[in-house]
Amino acid sequence: MSYAQDALKEIFREVVKRNPNEPEFHQAVQEIFDSLEPVIEKHPEFIERGIVKSIVEPERIIKFRVPWVDDNGKVQINRGYRIQFNSAIGPYKGGLRFHPSVYEGIIKFLGFEQIFKNSLTGLPIGGGKGGSDFDPHGKSDAEVMRFCQSFMTELYRYIGKDVDVPAGDIGVGGREIGFLYGQYKRITGLYEGVLTGKGIPFGGSLARTEATGFGLCYFTAAVLADHNESFAGKTVVVSGSGNVAIFANQKATELGAKVVAMCDSNGYIYDKNGIDLDAVKAIKIRDRKRIKEYLTYHPEAEYHEGCKGIWTIPCDIALPCATQNEIDEESAKILVANGCKCLCEGANMPSTPEAIAVFQKAGILFGPAKAANAGGVATSALEMSQNSMRLSWTFEEVDAKLKGIMENIYRNISAAAKEYGMEGNLAAGANIAGFMKVANAMMAQGLV
Ligand code: NDP
Repeated sequence: MSYAQDALKEIFREVVKRNPNEPEFHQAVQEIFDSLEPVIEKHPEFIERGIVKSIVEPERIIKFRVPWVDDNGKVQINRGYRIQFNSAIGPYKGGLRFHPSVYEGIIKFLGFEQIFKNSLTGLPIGGGKGGSDFDPHGKSDAEVMRFCQSFMTELYRYIGKDVDVPAGDIGVGGREIGFLYGQYKRITGLYEGVLTGKGIPFGGSLARTEATGFGLCYFTAAVLADHNESFAGKTVVVSGSGNVAIFANQKATELGAKVVAMCDSNGYIYDKNGIDLDAVKAIKIRDRKRIKEYLTYHPEAEYHEGCKGIWTIPCDIALPCATQNEIDEESAKILVANGCKCLCEGANMPSTPEAIAVFQKAGILFGPAKAANAGGVATSALEMSQNSMRLSWTFEEVDAKLKGIMENIYRNISAAAKEYGMEGNLAAGANIAGFMKVANAMMAQGLV
């Protein structure tokens, strides 16, 4: 075994030992380490000076009780988290996830990924992530507000516009960010850009809502263009029907594709005529209902229980935009057998390592999450800039900057893969390009 392999293996063993029962975090670390061997061969100082060992250890983990009272007057207790993972290149930045599956290992995996993603945007933002095991499904607006107020009553001590700037993620959209912001302002008396994804009247950026989904399509379009291809005339499957999925569908359609399937955590819809996105927006955004309701708008479409079946629908391009590990080896094989030529990840870590191996073996164009979905956080950083300047840019200005950032990310990761002898391997290119900037900043700042 080489020096680099040995050293990375040893550090990974330590990660597993120090973070037991956190498989998602182990998976995220392993995925980065798999690409770092040639980097360590060239730069053994990243091992010798403890950079790799430090980068897998969060700077700070904050864990707290979130008590609130439901509409029946009953006390409910949830658990809140904020993991401030790495501030080498800027203040911590990353979303909040409210979902019953949230525990420390999920927030750690997301925070770790966020370090490299934020680095790839080229903007000065460090990595962090937070959330709670609170489930907003089926809760009244008043319950969601009381929960958010209680969550912020603890979180406000640890965040600030130059310290840590949270945003949305699964279960945290405009409504939740509004309640969180209101409580921060009330406690601190500060009107500052401490959260992104805010409403437009109180400091939000135009195009932030659309940014992750639009950015995913700009990235995918750049990958396709480099292979003399485009979205025009292609059949696309988009999983999920939340923020990322809806705007990925919108942009892919604008670029000439036909999106034929979407899902939620109960099941998927297949509409061979192309999904009617206005109906999906009405069901999921306006009414907060289940995707199954699509049949009331389009009885000719199909609905199937369970989400996994969505990957059996033949498509040219797949855009997973729901959640982690939603595509396993079996689904990956079906996608490839059905002729899928390109898969770019809108969700964080939606493909298992076995699924990625299938895509790479089949030679399909694979865009990893930390590059492909970086448009959301990039536009959050643009929101921070506008807040600092006390100015607002137009939708077109923000959208043009987003497009430029996504195309630049593609160029940079593609070049990094080539430089380290892995041409075409965008997963490795993203890991290496994201890592180098943070590792060099950490080296320059000494042991901190
Ligand atoms: P939303 O809460 O808006 O939507 C999530 C969607 O995925 C919903 O349709 C939800 O269904 C579905 N979903 C959630 N869990 C599961 C599951 N276990 N199985 C099947 N479907 C599921 O979240 P976002 O759209 O914001 O986030 C989606 C993904 O994109 C996440 O991985 C997130 O980390 C990532 N991401 C988001 C960014 C953003 O800016 N929002 C930025 C970068 C990445 P249901 O309605 O039933 O809950």
